[in-house]
Parts: sequence; C-alpha cells; structure tokens
Amino acid sequence: MAAATSTVRTPDTISLQELLSVCYDLSKAAGDSIRRIFDSGDLGAIDKDVSGATGRGQLQTPPNASGGIDFGAIADPQTLADLESQRIIIGNLLRIYGPDLRIVGEEGELENTKGEGLLYREVRTDRFADEQFPEELKQLETKDITLWIDPLDGTREFTLNFVHYVTVLIGISYKKKAIGGVVHVPFIGGKYVQKDDPLNPTHKPAVPVDPAVPGQTVWGAVGVGVRGMPIVRVEDIPHDRRIVTTTRSHFSPSLQALLAEMKPQGVIRCGGAGSKGLLVLSGGADAYVYPQGGTKRWDTCAIDACVRAVGGRFTDQYGEDIVYDPDISHENDKGLLATLRDHDLFVLPKDAGNNNNQASAQKAHL
Ligand code: AMP
Ligand code: MG
Ligand code: MG
Repeated sequence: MAAATSTVRTPDTISLQELLSVCYDLSKAAGDSIRRIFDSGDLGAIDKDVSGATGRGQLQTPPNASGGIDFGAIADPQTLADLESQRIIIGNLLRIYGPDLRIVGEEGELENTKGEGLLYREVRTDRFADEQFPEELKQLETKDITLWIDPLDGTREFTLNFVHYVTVLIGISYKKKAIGGVVHVPFIGGKYVQKDDPLNPTHKPAVPVDPAVPGQTVWGAVGVGVRGMPIVRVEDIPHDRRIVTTTRSHFSPSLQALLAEMKPQGVIRCGGAGSKGLLVLSGGADAYVYPQGGTKRWDTCAIDACVRAVGGRFTDQYGEDIVYDPDISHENDKGLLATLRDHDLFVLPKDAGNNNNQASAQKAHL
C-alpha cells in the first residue's frame, strides 16, 4: 500500500488480516527504533509516577554512589524509546487509516501523532494473505475496533539492561473482546546476548533466536492461531504440573501470600506482561498470574488474543473475561490469569480480593 496521508478518510470497515499485517510491520519498525535508542546509551528515563523518588518530568534521577543513574529508584519509568515507539505506531496507523480509528496508547497523547515524517518503511497490508481467516473477520466495522498499544512493555527491565524481557504490544479488540495481537521481541538474536538475571536464572527465550537478525515477531488472531514461535501442545505438558510466572518488579509479601493459595510447584519471576504471555504460549510456564491491580488493557490485549487463539483462556483473577472498552478505566483492577489448560486451578475465590486490595496498594520496587 502506498503511504497514505494524514488527510485520509477512515474506512467504514477494515479486514483483520490487513490490520494485523500493518501492525506486524509497525511493531518491527518500533523495535528498530527501540534498539537504536538502547544502543545510543541515552535512554532519557523519567518517572511517570509523581509520588516516585524523582518526581514526574525530571529527565534523569540523581547520580547514584558510583556516578551512574539509579534506575531502580524510579517508580514508573518512561524512556525516549517508549515515546518514539508509540509515535511510530500510532502516527503511522493514523496516517494509513485516518483520524477516526480508535487507538489507546500507554503514553497518552503525544505531539506528532499525525505521523508526519514518521513512515519508517513501506508498510505491507498483505503479509497474511495466504492465511485462512474466518469470513466474519474480513470486514470489521471500524467503529467497533480499538487498538491497544504498549509501545514498550517492560520499561523497568529495559532501564536495568534486562532487555530480553522487553516487548512491543499491539492488541486489537472488536466489540470489547480481544481478537488479534502482535507481540514483537526486539532484543533477541543478532548481537544481543541475554544478561543473567539473578531473580530468573534459568530464563529461556520463548521465541526463536536468529544470530543473524535481531528481533522476532509473533502474531495471533482468534479463529486463526498464533504464528512466529513454537506453541506448546497441551498434551505434552505433564498432567499435574503447576508452574506459574509472575511479576519480577512488583513482587510483595502479600502477592506471595496470594500465589501460595494456587499451590505452585515453581514461580518464575519474569519482567513485562508480553514476555510472560509468550512464556505460557511456549509451555515454559502453565499460568501467568498477577492477582492484583496494576496492569492496563494495553498490557493484556495482544496476549489475551494470542492465548485465546490457541485455545487457552485469559481472564481476571476470578475467571471473568477482561472487557476491552476504551470508554471505561483501562486498569485491570481485578488482576489477570492466562493459561492454556486447567484455568480453574488458578482462579482465586472472590474473598481473596480482600487481601488483594492490600497487595495492590503496596508497591515493591526491586
Ligand atoms: P510486571 O509483571 O510487574 O513486569 O508488569 C507488567 C506490566 O504491568 C508492566 O507494563 C508494568 O509497568 C505494569 N504494572 C504492573 N503492576 C503495576 C503497578 N503496580 N503499577 C504500575 N504498573 C504496573
Ligand atoms: Mg506494559
Ligand atoms: Mg509500556
């Protein structure tokens, strides 16, 4: 497709096949930009949380004892890469589909979201032309589509050099249900070597590693499946296994107490929502559990769609579907739970929510 201008009229219907192809290319362009900023050595980190140690808007934290920046003290970090990635994705989506496509991006309204000068490369609309998409996904009513963009998931880990946890997440919901998603992993393969994480020493990549090229992109659609990574066959998982993956950086004693109710045989502490979703899809964990508020719909939409696309379930911690309505709060305040099988084993009883409020209020920043 030729690069559209920002004056393009939004079409009444869009095919999911086409939209996913566009999002696939834009996630890769965003990943290129994230790597470029990382390689430059200047992340330009600020704290989005006004109650954080540094206060919103400061471009860097005070130097730590060794003269470096103490990224661990930042409560809710944002870097230049989060901003640039969102500009690339949203700017180009608006340029291609016009101003009436509904998009929710983590970084809010940014300057230049009209996308002037942003088109990174020719964006293809036909990458998945050979895939069998159900008829009803070929003409989605644009007014019922929302795109949920997490331009850089795992920012805290990004600032700590645990870049293998970073993903770019583009979720597509239709009539408030997650139906499609793209998960791009920028720091895998090429020259990027996984830095040892003492909190997760045995972490293995869920996506293929290509020494020649950095970056891998996974996509999925309900009714189609997931492409771009090996998906575990549920019949190959030992029947009574119960390994959970959960937050690396928002861990707390009250969260630990809630996890104990699920009687896990192992807990993998992994950064970012996208990387944990991929871990479940690959069979590295049996459930992604986060029984407290904190994640937002842009953290979950893409992986929600991918998990459902392979027959799994993605719900809040009580087993209820997550509603992707752009007109209500974007917070997943009832936590989340993703599994490919035995979902009910990890669903919490409603009264576990009493502790949960406490857990949600606590902020443990490691
Ligand atoms: P985590 O599992 O801690 O790596 O978090 C996954 C995603 O949810 C990341 O984008 C986090 O920034 C976000 N998140 C989770 N908990 C919180 C919280 N308490 N406050 C702010 N963001 C959170
Ligand atoms: Mg995120
Ligand atoms: Mg983010």
